[in-house]
Amino acid sequence: MRFDVVTIFPEYLAVLDVSLLGRARREGLVDVHVHDLRDFTVDRHRTVDDTPYGGGAGMVMKPEPWALALEHVAAQGSVAPAPADPASAGPGDRPVLLVPTPSGERFTQRLARELAGREHVAIACGRYEGIDERVFGWAEELFEVRLVSLGDYVLNGGEVAALAMIEAVGRLVPGVVGNPASLVEESHEDGLLEYPVYTKPADWRGRAVPPVLLSGDHGKVAAWRRAQQEERTRERRPDLWAAYDSED
Ligand code: SAM
Repeated sequence: MRFDVVTIFPEYLAVLDVSLLGRARREGLVDVHVHDLRDFTVDRHRTVDDTPYGGGAGMVMKPEPWALALEHVAAQGSVAPAPADPASAGPGDRPVLLVPTPSGERFTQRLARELAGREHVAIACGRYEGIDERVFGWAEELFEVRLVSLGDYVLNGGEVAALAMIEAVGRLVPGVVGNPASLVEESHEDGLLEYPVYTKPADWRGRAVPPVLLSGDHGKVAAWRRAQQEERTRERRPDLWAAYDSED
């Protein structure tokens, strides 16, 4: 699977060399390319931003460098050529372009699973007040564009969101996480939060591990874990619980 990240701070993405994802990159399971948006500017000052039409605080990222950078990215990798009529293209025909933004749809485990099945995912990291809105409509000619938010708060730029999304998607690529069973039992995979986990010693500073986990009775352990999942989801995330409950 290939990721292309466009940013004005390529060094932000250096941590992708560390840990499981770093190993996955070295083993060729996940291919990550980082592009400096300023390499796609045409002026002496390598300008990527300008003042907003209509006034207001802050700067807006200019469309021209984004168009050049995204055209370059779309031409990379094992990517199907853009269809003559983008409207007739199915979702699998074009690479995905993720645009991190607090005004996007929520990035979820479900979306991470969907993206892990794609060959090519590009990420456009905004800064300042964001990217000129016209870029997103234009980019539909080359990509399936998804505006995605990490959560209901505002970051300084899209790089942290890109890191989170690459990690969430990358770890679902077969071979990246050693034991695939550990991926299935995690929070959000079945609409519930994960059950609490414990390791040795069985008694630590006067706090005992729940006795059922020491019983050796797999049926009882499974039932206890399920009840814990339901209880903590109900208590901590009423929104998830309501969605889960209504599916029953
Ligand atoms: N003015 C924008 C707004 O109010 O929606 C916020 C711009 S923010 C300072 C700069 C960039 O950070 C955004 O373009 C986006 O790339 C990124 N960003 C900020 N918060 C984010 C979030 N919750 N999820 C994903 N990306 C985010």
